[in-house]
Amino acid sequence: MIDARCSCGAVSLSLPGPTELVAACHCIDCQRRTGAPFGVGAFYPVEAVTISGAPKEYVRAAASGGEVRFYFCSDCGSTVCWKADNLPDMIGVAIGAIADPDFPAPVRSAFEQSKHAWVEIGGAGVAHFEQGSAQKSSG
Ligand SMILES: [Zn+2]
Ligand SMILES: [Zn+2]
Repeated sequence: MIDARCSCGAVSLSLPGPTELVAACHCIDCQRRTGAPFGVGAFYPVEAVTISGAPKEYVRAAASGGEVRFYFCSDCGSTVCWKADNLPDMIGVAIGAIADPDFPAPVRSAFEQSKHAWVEIGGAGVAHFEQGSAQKSSG
């Protein structure tokens, strides 16, 4: 088991271990949510993740359709995880909350239409998308 947590530790997650399902998202909403030029999530089956603490929920329309629910610490503000209508069986975990520099790298890079030009999500196996994962980019 590995742990993910917010900055102050009031909200934490228990995860079964590393996952290969890691995705970077460059959409404007992820940029605003994280305060960083892109967000990175590690995806797990909902039943594999145990949440401790009482995160606050923020719901917004997803750029790729439906709604997405973000769970963040009301004390320190860190988003620790989220659930999207279009991936109902999965939970996304903020990779920064896991704080493991050896965690697997992203295999998907979405919404590259709003990617900062200096950002490169590298690696031979990475799938690149101009928008959501339904529209594969030609590049
Ligand atoms: Zn916190
Ligand atoms: Zn995004």
